[in-house]
Amino acid sequence: MEVVVNKIIPFSSVDGPGNRTAIFLQGCNINCKYCHNPETRGMCQKCGVCVDKCPQNALEKRITATGEIEIVFKKELCVGCDTCIHVCPHDSSPRTSVMDEKMVFDEVKKQMPFIRGITVSGGECMLQPDFMTELFKLAKEANLSTMIDSNGTIDFSEKPELLAVTDSVMLDIKAFDCNDHHRITGANNDIVIKNAVFLAETGKLFEVRIVVVPDLYDAEQSVNDIANLLAPYNAQNNIRIKLISYRPMGVREEYKNLKVPDAKYMQKLSQILYNQGFSDVLVV
Ligand code: SF4
Ligand code: SF4
Repeated sequence: MEVVVNKIIPFSSVDGPGNRTAIFLQGCNINCKYCHNPETRGMCQKCGVCVDKCPQNALEKRITATGEIEIVFKKELCVGCDTCIHVCPHDSSPRTSVMDEKMVFDEVKKQMPFIRGITVSGGECMLQPDFMTELFKLAKEANLSTMIDSNGTIDFSEKPELLAVTDSVMLDIKAFDCNDHHRITGANNDIVIKNAVFLAETGKLFEVRIVVVPDLYDAEQSVNDIANLLAPYNAQNNIRIKLISYRPMGVREEYKNLKVPDAKYMQKLSQILYNQGFSDVLVV
């Protein structure tokens, strides 16, 4: 099954336990105000805006024999200046690749002796459950662990085939309050909360990720509520909570001035979690 891949990072130590190959799929179903990779959100509309702006002539707009427009990316000319993604009016990138699970796994195999597993992220990778199921089957045959990094808006309980080959999940909870979540992302969080409980119950919730943006929502209340929700499950299976300080790098211009939380505030939030019995708390 083919998907659009934004990038593959051969070695990552921040996308789950151990050294992992991380695969980032193109396309997302929500729109976070502080998105750090807005170029992964949309699918390329082949408008050609980026082509003329590339200082290296690494992009070309062509018409195929069947009359379709294609944007050709010449990797060998690219210097990684990111001009193309900054000028794209569709939150996309011309540097993506269409790949099926076998092509992606061929890339994974290059690192095989040196990695513990693979992680699929996005965009929102749960938009491609069939692709992930097939990719994870290949990974399992090679004794690699399999992880999903998700915004939680798609119901995991409805994907049993995928979960059968998934070791664990890293789940974003952008805000516990539904109105806050909607304001930050444009989407409700009822499925996110349902997923948090479902994955915790089934022992597949490896990590909850909370981006702390004091200007956008009451993070203290949100962390409190998340801790109350998940503490009973943490007592059975350790759940890591990662508190991520908002940083303006990579975010869209209009949100660059949001306040960065200070160390004291982050410490206060982690203490709430320690008080509820969470011992695996990361502040980054
Ligand atoms: S990053 Fe984009 S704009 Fe910059 S050289 Fe590469 S293709 Fe061209
Ligand atoms: S990457 Fe963006 S700017 Fe470039 S062709 Fe696609 S939609 Fe247009």
